[in-house]
Amino acid sequence: MKKLIWKATPFLVLALGVALFNLIIEGMITIYLMKIIDTAISGDRTLLLEFVKKLLFMAIIFLPSGILLSYTKGLYKVKALTSMKKGFIDKVFHKNINEFQKDNNAKYVSSLTNDMNTIETNYVAAIYEVGYNIISFIVGFIVIAYVNIYALGLGILIGAITTVISIFISKPLQKHQKHRSDLFEGYTTYIKEVLSAFQIIKANNLDTKIQEEFYKKSKDIQNKGYVIDKIQTYISSVEGLIIKLSFVSLIGAVVFMTIKGDLTFGGTILILNNMEKVLMPLMTFSEWLPKVLSVKTLFNKLDEILTNHYNYDETINLESFGESIEFNDVAFSYENNEVLKDVNFRINKGGKYLVVGPSGGGKSTLLKLLRKYFIPNKGDILIDGENLKDIKKESYFNHISNVEQQVFLFEDTIRNNITLYKNYNEEDILSAIEKSGLSDFLQSLPEGLDTIILDNGKNISGGEKSRVAIARGLLRKTDIIFLDEAFASLDSSVAREIENTLLSLEGITVINVSHVIFKETKKRYDKVFVVKNKLVC
Ligand code: ADP
Repeated sequence: MKKLIWKATPFLVLALGVALFNLIIEGMITIYLMKIIDTAISGDRTLLLEFVKKLLFMAIIFLPSGILLSYTKGLYKVKALTSMKKGFIDKVFHKNINEFQKDNNAKYVSSLTNDMNTIETNYVAAIYEVGYNIISFIVGFIVIAYVNIYALGLGILIGAITTVISIFISKPLQKHQKHRSDLFEGYTTYIKEVLSAFQIIKANNLDTKIQEEFYKKSKDIQNKGYVIDKIQTYISSVEGLIIKLSFVSLIGAVVFMTIKGDLTFGGTILILNNMEKVLMPLMTFSEWLPKVLSVKTLFNKLDEILTNHYNYDETINLESFGESIEFNDVAFSYENNEVLKDVNFRINKGGKYLVVGPSGGGKSTLLKLLRKYFIPNKGDILIDGENLKDIKKESYFNHISNVEQQVFLFEDTIRNNITLYKNYNEEDILSAIEKSGLSDFLQSLPEGLDTIILDNGKNISGGEKSRVAIARGLLRKTDIIFLDEAFASLDSSVAREIENTLLSLEGITVINVSHVIFKETKKRYDKVFVVKNKLVC
């Protein structure tokens, strides 16, 4: 993740370059101010006028360069954050389906919101602040050294001490940042679950229990925030003390030099002016550095979430599905729970298969193996003689369609929900609509195919949702259609009609996992597989 932010380095360099220019101008303004004071005291009017002109010139440049600075700083932040968020989403969609499904997806939501916000302030913005303050410190120092070289040594010493202390005292902050991120993750998961179970909670009068739990979780997070704030306050106080002591020593040194006659009146004013430029950066720098360091644990966490632990090199592109899918002694377990073993069967191209069995028997797992969401722990699945394991996922997914009980709908037109944003000719779209039994429904809508589906299908019925999913599958004209309890929310006459359509599709292999079985359609399947006792027969 860190690398993604560093992709914005050219913009950071640009912003810091502009900052350097700005700070040099500021430094020069103080130098001309010193010269103006000293020449005014010496009474040289011509020289005085020349310095005044130069000072005014510098002051005029300062305005546009200040605007440029805020523009380039903003640009750097935008680039760094966009690169990070884009990279995050890219990596999420590179995750293996089974590894993604293992986690509650609220984990990703929490990372994308809470963790990214922390990274934005404590890393992206902080890198710029640290860079800016280093430059400010150096420029301020050079300006002071221009007048009196001894002050330089004292400044380097102060800088070194503050940096070492900052690194040292930031340690406890790292641990708490990680802990807070974990709490946020639990909190987001909880909110997601509670809101999706809204009806059940209300109907069972669970409001009080939920509110208590919610209160506890919020309190834990707020308390953690409080602990982090407290640590940050200790850090700033310790550093503030060091800086104040440094300031006093520097003033002491300046007073001493002025008494000795090593400094002019203008020089004294210049040093006092620039002291702020040297000490303020130290203060800000030591406030930001611990934040930058504390984000390390978050980066490790994000990298872990986004890593695929199963990395198998798929080498074969599946051009077409020509003959069969075979299971040879396949076994599959979830951790220690063996769900399937010694599974042997064959599916022929164009065949129609019904998969039945008791709940929890392993039907969905079998489908997940067929869809290449999971890989067998033992044995092989062969497609036209090639091991499915070796076939590139994307090429396999081009040949299959899935119709699930839970249908995801985009907040868009029915047309886009059926075509899934791909181009098809109108005839094919109408044919898929007809076969999936959507025609009457669409005719009843004034906007027809252009009707917008709201909020994952809030304005259409469960049955209509299923039909949209079936139309998607039919339209893609893939070689294989997998159905997972796709008829569960349809009324029986519609279900039977659609099932008949699917069973009549020439050359298309249909594998239908269903507990809705109609006598008359059952006969039309080439084979009925029963999944139970870890076996498929
Ligand atoms: P069916 O579809 O026949 O109802 P499943 O394939 O969903 O059966 O489940 C078979 C067994 O595998 C059940 O014991 C279930 O608890 C378990 N199981 C299913 N999915 C997972 C999972 N993602 N992680 C762990 N166990 C699972």
